[in-house]
Amino acid sequence: MRVVDLIQQKRDGGRLDPADIQALIVRYTADEVPDYQMAALLMAIYLNGMDDAELSAWTDAMLHSGRIVDLSHVPGVKVDKHSTGGVGDKISLPLAPLVAACGVPVPMISGRGLGHTGGTLDKLESIPGFRTDLSEGRFKQLVETLGLALIGQTAEIAPADKRLYALRDVTGTVSSIPLITSSIMSKKLAEGLDALVLDVKVGSGAFMKTLPEARDLARHMVEVGERMGKAMVALITDMSQPLGQAVGNANEVVESIQILRGEGPADVRALTLALAQEMLTLGGVDPAEAERALDDGRALEKFREIIEAQGGDPRVCDDPLAVLPKAAHTEPFLAERDGFVAEVDCTSVGVGALLLGAGRLKTTDPVDPAVGLTVLKRLGDPVQAGEPLALIHHNDRNLALARQRLGRAWRIGDTAPAQPPLIHDRLARDAAAH
Ligand code: URA
Repeated sequence: MRVVDLIQQKRDGGRLDPADIQALIVRYTADEVPDYQMAALLMAIYLNGMDDAELSAWTDAMLHSGRIVDLSHVPGVKVDKHSTGGVGDKISLPLAPLVAACGVPVPMISGRGLGHTGGTLDKLESIPGFRTDLSEGRFKQLVETLGLALIGQTAEIAPADKRLYALRDVTGTVSSIPLITSSIMSKKLAEGLDALVLDVKVGSGAFMKTLPEARDLARHMVEVGERMGKAMVALITDMSQPLGQAVGNANEVVESIQILRGEGPADVRALTLALAQEMLTLGGVDPAEAERALDDGRALEKFREIIEAQGGDPRVCDDPLAVLPKAAHTEPFLAERDGFVAEVDCTSVGVGALLLGAGRLKTTDPVDPAVGLTVLKRLGDPVQAGEPLALIHHNDRNLALARQRLGRAWRIGDTAPAQPPLIHDRLARDAAAH
């Protein structure tokens, strides 16, 4: 196999042979294919796509570029959730303990925030002492004993993706449906799970801005998972405004604990329950258990257990504001005119928080756990000039820049727009019969 032949084949709209894909990913992971050739091939894939056989071969090769965690010793159907990323998307924090509290094991390997989207690991690490860099052995032990572990990707999991993602990031080839599908699915399939619920975001704060694009991504991910023998469900959910009020890290932990106490914003609770019900159904447990476990405190107790097991301060569950880091200053971001919130550029909300230090532009950037936003006005809300749209929690970093970006986040119009649904669509094998 000559890499230049594969590049030319794909450039001219041809299809790659699965054996060539396999050999290419092995050689790339072993540093035997230069980045300039891989970059050219990624661009050809970006422009010409991949068919089902190519996508399966590419995902399978990435999955087998590293270790696959073996959780076969843990009884029960192991189920995880993956979100394609959003603003204020803290759902994994209440969801994982909720599902585990209902008896379905959750082996969750999460990511860090990159760009305008937040990451579960950064949020968890705002809890003093919480460690996400556990060994594979400890990960397996926690899934077995507590039914839950919340860790970051180890160097052994899908190493091909680590390199390919970094290359895509600098070659304008991130937003390709087959490349996103193979990237996400190779990492998720390496976790040792039996079933996966996907939360595919759509809207101004998501990779996929339109419903047809989000459906296409969801369909590809569901099909790849099913071809690899996993039970799959995808919900396509709204990201045309932040989820809940909190955008940041420590403040998203506070909101997550509110949800685990049966309180908190209605949209965060509704999405947590909807995803939990899908996960419980896949795990063979009555989905009605989700609401019960949220309201009777079992889910919060499971969160406390996992925080303690992973080295964090469990008192955060009792008094989060006393335990979590706090920003030095809070000030309002005001509306300039009367009207209704007609549109939210959710990416600008995320970038505003990122500029304060809540996120990172490069994977090596440090994150400030204390800073972020409290979003006070949602789509359709009436506002008056001088009323706060959000609160800015900051530590004197980039405040002017963040304010400038937030100036693009809310469009105030004369009429209230139609409310977007929280869940736009559901894709699963059984959905075909509906
Ligand atoms: N998240 C990933 O892990 N990979 C992508 O390609 C996009 C989002």
